[in-house]
Amino acid sequence: MNSPRFSGPSTRAVHSGEPPAEVGAPVVSPIVPSTTFYGDPSGEGEVLYTRYGNGPNHMLLAERLVALEGGEDAMVLASGMAAMACALLSCLRAGDHLVATHAIYGGTRVLLDQELSRLGIGTTYVDMTEAGWERAFRPETRVVLAESPSNPVLRVLDLRAISEAAHARGALVIVDATFASPINLRPLEHGVDLVMHSATKYLGGHSDVTAGALIGSAERMAVVRERARVWGPALDPHACWLLERGIKTLALRMERHNANGMAVARWAETAAGVARVHYPGLPSHPDHELARRVLDGFGGMIGIEVEGGNDAATRFVGALRLAKLAPSLGGVETLVSEPRHTSHVHMTPEERAANGIREGFIRISLGIEDAADLIADFEQALNA
Ligand SMILES: *Cc1c(COP(=O)(O)O)cnc(C)c1O
Repeated sequence: MNSPRFSGPSTRAVHSGEPPAEVGAPVVSPIVPSTTFYGDPSGEGEVLYTRYGNGPNHMLLAERLVALEGGEDAMVLASGMAAMACALLSCLRAGDHLVATHAIYGGTRVLLDQELSRLGIGTTYVDMTEAGWERAFRPETRVVLAESPSNPVLRVLDLRAISEAAHARGALVIVDATFASPINLRPLEHGVDLVMHSATKYLGGHSDVTAGALIGSAERMAVVRERARVWGPALDPHACWLLERGIKTLALRMERHNANGMAVARWAETAAGVARVHYPGLPSHPDHELARRVLDGFGGMIGIEVEGGNDAATRFVGALRLAKLAPSLGGVETLVSEPRHTSHVHMTPEERAANGIREGFIRISLGIEDAADLIADFEQALNA
């Protein structure tokens, strides 16, 4: 890691980690598909092997992610779930216990409940927005797992307080910061040990590459690298290249995602037919004050509840022309989904309501289109 330290996130997103500009060298990173690399006859030096995630395309991304998030080392992996699995496997062993936020990505929940439980690792779920969640700690608690902002009601967590509580009890903190991207939130600055991203979302940004990322201290990442070598979830170099291309415009895209989030949230709060809006940039959001302190932007994710319940929500989604129905998020195109059909399909209506997802709830991942076009589309769909 020896490229110059740029001060701004836009410059870092474009340049950090790139090799020196030698005459005749390509401006854009070459894809290096080679699975193996010539070794040193003395046996010195690191063995380079693509499954180890230490080829040129991987290491450029590692440096770029460190420049954006902080920390000392980073690793790109085959998906967000691969990153989450490696993060947990690097911190936990049989008999250990973790405390996790109840508002966690569905795939992560299955990983904890069905996979880690089989390995003898137990989870206690807590609401980290409420005081007293620390009562869930046990002597064998090794990890606190948080996600901020959360899906789909966008609760924002006080990562500083969570990290202090965990460290005082000898536990490490892992945070899934997919919804924020490093432009809006850098959890390592708040004392967190390991940051995880589904790079499939904002980092890639174009809904065309599946990838994950982990960023942390050199010491923590050395353990992650050890686990990843043998569990085998390396990211293919072609996918690395697509991810690198996506990251170049991350800061620029997030600026528009943040602006569209604010514009659509403000419009929705006064729109006839919208019962409620969930957006941390609005003073009506329960975490607005905290969000103002810890986020550099409120993001492109927004939840709205339409009047008329689930039938009205389905009619609204069906009437959209510009925004489209699809799961996933963080791309340049606006996508909507109904959590009762996707991320929260396994909950009863009562359980969903307890999690803030009432009848008529629609999750919107705002793209980078013009806010006026998006609002016009939402307006005509509400009237339909
Ligand atoms: C999508 C997502 C994941 C899983 O990422 P994949 O790249 O699909 O494996 C994890 N956490 C959050 C918050 C996500 O949105």
